[in-house]
This record gives sequence, structure tokens and C-alpha cells, in this order.
Amino acid sequence: MSKRVLVVGGGIIGASVAWHLIRSGCAVTIVDSGQGGGLATRHSFAWINASWGNPEWYFHFRRRSMAGWRRLQDAIPKLDVSWSGGLLWDLPPAELASYAQEHARWGYGIREVGRQEALAIEPGLKEPPELALHVPEEGMLEPLATTQALLAATISNGARLLGDTEATLLTLANGRVTGIETPTGERLEADETVVCAGVDTSRLLEIAGLPMALDAPPGLIAHSTRSDKKLLNGLVMTPDFHVRQTHEGRLIIGTDFAGGDPQGRDSEMATALLDGVKAMVRGSDDLDLDVITVGYRPTPRDGYPAIGRPKGADGIYVAVLHSGITLAPIVGELAARELATGVRDPDLAPYDPNRPELSQA
Ligand SMILES: Cc1cc2nc3c(=O)[nH]c(=O)nc-3n(C[C@H](O)[C@H](O)[C@H](O)COP(=O)(O)OP(=O)(O)OC[C@H]3O[C@@H](n4cnc5c(N)ncnc54)[C@H](O)[C@@H]3O)c2cc1C
Repeated sequence: MSKRVLVVGGGIIGASVAWHLIRSGCAVTIVDSGQGGGLATRHSFAWINASWGNPEWYFHFRRRSMAGWRRLQDAIPKLDVSWSGGLLWDLPPAELASYAQEHARWGYGIREVGRQEALAIEPGLKEPPELALHVPEEGMLEPLATTQALLAATISNGARLLGDTEATLLTLANGRVTGIETPTGERLEADETVVCAGVDTSRLLEIAGLPMALDAPPGLIAHSTRSDKKLLNGLVMTPDFHVRQTHEGRLIIGTDFAGGDPQGRDSEMATALLDGVKAMVRGSDDLDLDVITVGYRPTPRDGYPAIGRPKGADGIYVAVLHSGITLAPIVGELAARELATGVRDPDLAPYDPNRPELSQA
């Protein structure tokens, strides 16, 4: 009989885990307190990258996942992922050069470009910088549409999605998690329960006596009204903002780190972001702010993913992380393999959910 696996959370991580599980022959049920599509996911900037500021082992994990997106696109052509490339100068010039050298040595397709070449890559820029970096292999996706397409493909391969179904707690018997309980008291049972509940993950784990230190830093994204002009070809990362244009013509703008903490001044921050873009991008003057979103990043305390079996109970697996847009394919693939076969990929070693850095403060 197929292993029955319950996936709690239908954001981009739960959707990817469920897709890979169903392809591994498991019987999969996804429960989501909404309709699926995620919370952090839908409020994300959605840049697929292995960019600066990370150690080499994490760079390679991210890059492995970037290749995973291309495999997922082959399997599910409806996924809204585009490999537009990134043009960036969000570091001081000396650091730009050392970042490019280091990452090129690690195998990243990255190179320095001068003003004229930057303009050829992004003709909409009014004042291109003297020095920028171009990374053609970076990409972006429409997070809600992509997650919904991944869920739909998973369902058409035989999974069940139970929307409006909140896991209020994990049920336990004889040291084993046996499933979840919903607000009506209904119990859903499974051989394995995979918690991909984003920022709600630590609450669920704690109830089951499996604490994990998880933070939820906020990030604001300003969404402009739609333009019928092609204003940008790809991702543009400046010292003041990160920006990309969606297929429907909106500009999606965050501060550095793809969406910063507005500290309660949402409208002020969003207006400043759009004004900054208007000063830099030709043809954007008539755009207004349409929507401002503030999302909360599910972030294990040391900043790295937590993927694996928490100690203290059997029948449970967790996958919670920041950079989930980039990492969803590799996390889904390796988590499903471990759940289906018991084999843990060596690349998951740094992401043990039981590492001391994640013990509760
Ligand atoms: C502003 C911002 C910018 C970002 N930019 C990037 C970026 O550029 N690149 C990148 O790679 N990453 C980025 N991220 C991070 C990325 O978006 C997240 O890591 C990723 O979306 C997490 O996905 P998830 O499925 O784990 O969580 P979520 O999307 O939050 O999904 C969790 C799901 O679980 C459901 N759920 C929660 N609790 C329960 C429960 N008790 N019972 C049932 N269902 C439940 C929720 O309804 C939700 O659907 C950004 C995030 C933010 C907020």
C-alpha cells in the first residue's frame, strides 16, 4: 500500500513537497487553512537567485535548486517562471568586483558590465551605473500563479487538497505523530505528516513538544498600476530598491533584500520606492501605487532552512525556510526522497532542524 502523507500548508514549499511525493508514489493529502497558494509566497518579491552574502555550500544548494526550476518547468509547462536575468549594483563598487570574482570562481554565470552594456541589457534605465553585474541565469516567477499551477498539477496526478482546513494541532500516539486535528475536532490520519506551514510551523511543532526557533521578519512590496509598455527586461537591483516588471505590466518594488521592514510607515515607504523607480526608469512616470503588501518571511533563527525530521517524535517531517521561491524545487525533491525512501541527501546536512542554533531561546 502507498505511504499516506499529509502535507500541512499549500504555499510554494508544501506544493513542491506534495508534487515530488505524488511522483514518488505516495498517497498525498494537502491541507491548507486558506485555499492554497501560500502567505509568504504570495507576498514575495520572487527573485530566483544564488546571489551575494551566502557561504559557498548555501550558494551551491541554491544553484542546484535553480536547475530544479528548469526541470519543473519541463514537467509542468504552465509554471509562470521566466529566466530574465538580473542586473545589479546594490553593493559598493569594490564589493561588486569581489562578489563577481568569488561567485564566478564558484561557477555562477556572472560578469561585470559597464554603462553601455548595462544600457543594452536594460534600455529603459535613465542613468545606468558605471559598473554593474549581469547574471543571465537568474530568474523570477509569479508566486501565486506558479504555486497554484504546481498544486493543480499535483492534484491532477492524484493528490487531494483540502482548503479551509486548519491544523490546530498535531496528534500524537506512542511517541509518533499520527496526523492533525482541525478546529471542528475532526482528525486526519497519515503515516507521515509534513509541516510546511510557513510562519505557523513553530506553533504547530511546539504544541507537539518539538520546539524550533523561527523568526518572521516583515517585508514590504509596492505594486504599481499596470503599464502597457515593456519598461524592464529583467530584475534590476540598485542600492535603493529592487524592481521587476510582471507579465501584466506592473512594477514590483522592494527595498534591498527584496522587501524591507516598513516599521509601520507602509505608505511612506511604498511611495518613496515608486518615486525612486520613476526617477530611474523611462516611461514609468504615469504609474501609481496600486497595492502595498507586507509579508512575513518564515526564517529559522540562523537564517538557513530547516528541513528534516525533528527529534522527539516519529512520523513527522518539517520544511521551513526563507528564500523558498528559489529553493522550493530542491527542498521538495529532497524531502520527498527522504520521506519515500528513507535516504537523506548529503546536501541536506547543514539544514538539520535539530541543530543547536534552532533550539528555543
Ligand atoms: C517580502 C518578501 C520578499 C521575498 N523575496 C524572496 C525572493 O526574492 N526570493 C526568494 O527565494 N524568497 C523570497 N522570499 C521568501 C519566500 O517567499 C518564502 O520563503 C516562501 O514563500 C515560503 O513559502 P512557504 O510555503 O514555506 O510559506 P507560505 O507561503 O507562508 O505558505 C504556508 C501555507 O501554510 C498554510 N498554513 C499555515 N498554517 C497552517 C495550519 N495550521 N494549517 C493548515 N495550513 C496552514 C498557509 O495558509 C499557507 O498557505 C520573500 C518573502 C517575503 C515576505
